[in-house]
Amino acid sequence: MKNKKMNLELSGLLKQDLDVWKSLNLIETDEDMYDFNEIPSCCASHALELYVLEKDPSNDCSSKSIVELIRPGLDDNFSKDLNNWKCDDGEHNDDIRAIWNLTCPTHPMFVGFM
Ligand SMILES: [Zn+2]
Repeated sequence: MKNKKMNLELSGLLKQDLDVWKSLNLIETDEDMYDFNEIPSCCASHALELYVLEKDPSNDCSSKSIVELIRPGLDDNFSKDLNNWKCDDGEHNDDIRAIWNLTCPTHPMFVGFM
């Protein structure tokens, strides 16, 4: 892991730490909006998309592009955080699995997931 700041951001992002989400400008701040002060994501995959687009608006958000951008901030806890925030939507879980395969292929596969 080369980028400590990104590492902390990714950790807070996936642990759904509201303060981190706020610091990344990913939280609605208009009180009149339905999602005011709420984390606007269903799972780790969507959260990483939002994160990557905040850092690089031109990112195409393929699993490969996401991983290229976040790789400097990854550590061993990433696989756990990824595994802990899955989706109700099977397609999103496919994306999570693809990110997993690109980042933590040597870890045991998702617990209770396959
Ligand atoms: Zn999702």
